[in-house]
Amino acid sequence: MKIGEIGEFGFIKSFAHKYNHLIEEGNKGIGDDCAILKLNELESYVVTTDLLVEEIHFLKNKISASQLGIKSLAVSLSDVAAMGATPKFSFLSISIPKDTDTEYLDQFMQAYLALSEDLNCPLMGGDTTKSPDKLMINVVVIGQAKKENIKTRASAQSGDLICCTGTLGDSAAGLNLILENREITVYSNYLLNKHLQPKARTQEGIWLGEKSCVHALMDISDGISSDLKHILEQSKKSAIIDIKSIPKSKELIETCNHFQWSSDDLAISGGEDYELLFTVKKSEITLLQKQYKEEFGEDISVIGEITEGEQSIKWLKKGEEVNLEKIGFNHFQ
Ligand code: ADP
Ligand code: MG
Repeated sequence: MKIGEIGEFGFIKSFAHKYNHLIEEGNKGIGDDCAILKLNELESYVVTTDLLVEEIHFLKNKISASQLGIKSLAVSLSDVAAMGATPKFSFLSISIPKDTDTEYLDQFMQAYLALSEDLNCPLMGGDTTKSPDKLMINVVVIGQAKKENIKTRASAQSGDLICCTGTLGDSAAGLNLILENREITVYSNYLLNKHLQPKARTQEGIWLGEKSCVHALMDISDGISSDLKHILEQSKKSAIIDIKSIPKSKELIETCNHFQWSSDDLAISGGEDYELLFTVKKSEITLLQKQYKEEFGEDISVIGEITEGEQSIKWLKKGEEVNLEKIGFNHFQ
């Protein structure tokens, strides 16, 4: 059998459970945005690692060295935000083709440093090797949080509202612009930036972690059609999503109109938005939205509701159920 037949998640499932008996009480292993490691009675560390491979995750001639430096750290920071934790330390391993210019690496490291300084999150180690051909980057970020503030994918409750930060689909539209070599429109820069230089919702994640009405929390890296399934699987719930309430930027809508792309498709199944997806106790949502707006000047969007049932998603458009053929990006399929 080839990996393509079971996919990325089939592969992970084949071995993940075999470690359960080795994991101490209070720690949590594979299955969430980060692992949880007990630090003391009150606090835990959370740890994530992400790998970026040239030609799979980025095209070296389409992303600048400094954008790549930022993106490499941001994708792991996003997983730490998804636990409600504060990023504390990072580790960088990099596999470099022989003909790489040192100027390129300097720019990469300068951008990595600037983002680390912004967050007071120092680079503490890593590994550097030669690579036969492609550039590969692995970043580990360690975060810290009070145990009571750590949010997992497993705590969604029936009747919770399903919410997200920001707008969805922008990054996928940016990727479309790159892959299809489209002409530049007034909105290209906005969408390209979202794709090439994503921002992790670090402060928002910490803030949501402190709120007891926020139940399950994760980040959106593969698109909600794929990512929401992880919350449903871990919480053993189902969901109804109202496609019309999925937040989309005017830049996405205008660009999709211009190129005749489906903005719904991009917002639902496009990857790499790095927004936060979370569930909230229904009676607390109005207050939470108000406080979030005061704190961050942005909206929390309500896109659906958690229901009882066997981990299925009902997609509604204008009140009618629709069948979504598209699934989240899965690297091996
Ligand atoms: P995310 O998109 O949040 O980074 P992934 O979808 O990549 O998470 O991974 C899902 C879960 O599987 C995570 O808990 C991750 O740590 C774990 N995982 C992925 N690949 C491996 C691997 N090769 N070995 C052990 N755990 C893995
Ligand atoms: Mg994640």
